[in-house]
Amino acid sequence: MRCPFCGCEDTQVKDSRPTEENSSIRRRRVCPDCAGRFTTFERVQLRELMVLKRSGRKVAFDRDKLVNSVNVALRKRPIDADRVERMVSGIVRQLEASGESEIASSVIGELVIDALRGLDPVAYVRFASVYRDFREVADFESVLGEIARDTIPDAGKPLKGGDRADSEPGRPEAKAVAARLPRAKSSGETH
Ligand SMILES: [Zn+2]
Repeated sequence: MRCPFCGCEDTQVKDSRPTEENSSIRRRRVCPDCAGRFTTFERVQLRELMVLKRSGRKVAFDRDKLVNSVNVALRKRPIDADRVERMVSGIVRQLEASGESEIASSVIGELVIDALRGLDPVAYVRFASVYRDFREVADFESVLGEIARDTIPDAGKPLKGGDRADSEPGRPEAKAVAARLPRAKSSGETH
């Protein structure tokens, strides 16, 4: 592995250890020429995946880019980096298992949205609102409705007259998301 600092071709492995439930190996390397230290990850790559963009352009699938866009959505959220890595690895496995060598960027976006939905509701709404290009309050309402159905057991049942959604014992995350968004309705209902 070439040294990224001085270009020396011959770097030494100081330490190897498995990460992410053995799906990759992390290596600490040191350059004998400049003493620069860096880390490499070794992963199984089943085959080269190409991404078909909305513009019609094709680019090689880039795992790091995917991690970056997920991290933007998770900014300042209390989610462990290991969980993000596992989530991204899960998405990559799904892409590889699909049997397609070319995958539409929209398919990847929807997989990320689904995965974030289970990981962090705030990041989920952030990513979905950018990715799906929300323009109207109704778009937020439909996503908040999905969160409510996921997190509030009785949300699918029709409410009796006079009952309000915010009197349900919902999980706090859904309410936290709602509090960060523009008020969808003046009544305070979550769906
Ligand atoms: Zn070097």
